[in-house]
Amino acid sequence: MFRRLSILSLSALLAFAAFSSAQQPLAPPTAKPLRVTVIKAGRLLDPETGTATPNQVIVVEGERIRAVGPNLAVPPGATVIDLSKMTVMPGLVDAHTHTTLTYKEQPENNYYYLTYVMESTPLRAIQGASNMIQLLNSGFTVVRDVGNNALYADTALRQAIEQGWLPGPTVIPSGPMIGSTGGQYWPTPEMYKYHNIMYPEYIDANSPDEIVRAVRENMLFGARTIKLCIDCKPWMYSVDDIKLAIREAAQGGCKVEGHVQTAEGAQRSIDAGIYIIAHGNALTADHHRQMAEKGIILAGTDTPFTGYRGSEAAFKRTVANLRDAWEKKVILTFSTDFDYWNDRMRNEKTGEYLTRGELTLNFLETWKAAKIPNADILKAMTINGYLAADVLKDRGPIKPGFFADLIAMPGDPITDIDAVRAVQFVMKNWMVFKKDGVMTPEAYFNPGPVRTPNGRWTR
Ligand SMILES: [Zn+2]
Repeated sequence: MFRRLSILSLSALLAFAAFSSAQQPLAPPTAKPLRVTVIKAGRLLDPETGTATPNQVIVVEGERIRAVGPNLAVPPGATVIDLSKMTVMPGLVDAHTHTTLTYKEQPENNYYYLTYVMESTPLRAIQGASNMIQLLNSGFTVVRDVGNNALYADTALRQAIEQGWLPGPTVIPSGPMIGSTGGQYWPTPEMYKYHNIMYPEYIDANSPDEIVRAVRENMLFGARTIKLCIDCKPWMYSVDDIKLAIREAAQGGCKVEGHVQTAEGAQRSIDAGIYIIAHGNALTADHHRQMAEKGIILAGTDTPFTGYRGSEAAFKRTVANLRDAWEKKVILTFSTDFDYWNDRMRNEKTGEYLTRGELTLNFLETWKAAKIPNADILKAMTINGYLAADVLKDRGPIKPGFFADLIAMPGDPITDIDAVRAVQFVMKNWMVFKKDGVMTPEAYFNPGPVRTPNGRWTR
């Protein structure tokens, strides 16, 4: 049918399509008044100051917060949500994770090179959708998803959530990680040259031209941050290479994160003025000092030692590094690098599998072991995370004008950080995703892209 379609009939068809759409313009949206929701907060936690104020009222109009204060009047027709027995706070951030890669003990023996050979991009995108919902359920309203995301499964997830197909946090995706030949792999010549084995996990960029091209390609396909593999090979990126990527990314409104695993890679990233350094293990006290001075953000990915992951020796190093970074006043984010699963990831008492959100919150163990004050952990999980995600112009804090993302829990995380493990209420973009400890996501599922490009919900 399509083969027989001549150029002439195709252009006639297009002309007709243009004519009919001109004749039948879409009806203008009816000017409905914005819905108003009033939240009564028993305590309102401000992570910027590390304090909580009792009995606050938050007025949400449309998707955004309109007013915050004590004794605000409830406008007529407003929906009232009573959280007067809870601590309300801004949503949490995992500043470095991977939701569409899950390498396993079986069948790939934890060898993640194999995961992307055995699992398709569509399958991994669906895994990502599930992980995002689990993260939102635990109170994560912003997630930086930085690499190892098949062929742009991460940017598709961002779009799907933004368009209103399904619930999820605000996703800041990087697209494939950009690195020199081989990325994080050491492929054989036959696999690399004749079977394109790098595809689709990394983009090779070996020269300034290729770096520019790779950065532009990722931004074209929906990335909101750029991830560079600084030192995945001994022939690492130079300071000029990194500066070039930063300049190019800035043109598309993106900041650059460097995957760093050596002291030299860390130094080059610092010298180039990179926005975020990912992975804290190779950083020295001197790097921490320089990062604090330059305001470079650390996504340390501080893995705890648990029954399902890690070793005591590695944990000790991680704790010491995190502690030193905190002492040197580096901008710290809560970050996990989570991208694995095994059958031991269970609740010790009930034997049930832990959710992705619960596994993510287990990273608190590292922060507690490093004796970081709760107020600073909360800052890392919120304000510093929003800074890393670069969303602070309109998302994150509970302030007038900001999107209504907020969570609530019975305890007080300032005195007991583990209280954040018991999130009972989640609001994302004014919509209630979780109430009384139960997910209520019906309103998020839609048979079409209900959100228009200008950002207003049409329903
Ligand atoms: Zn990572």
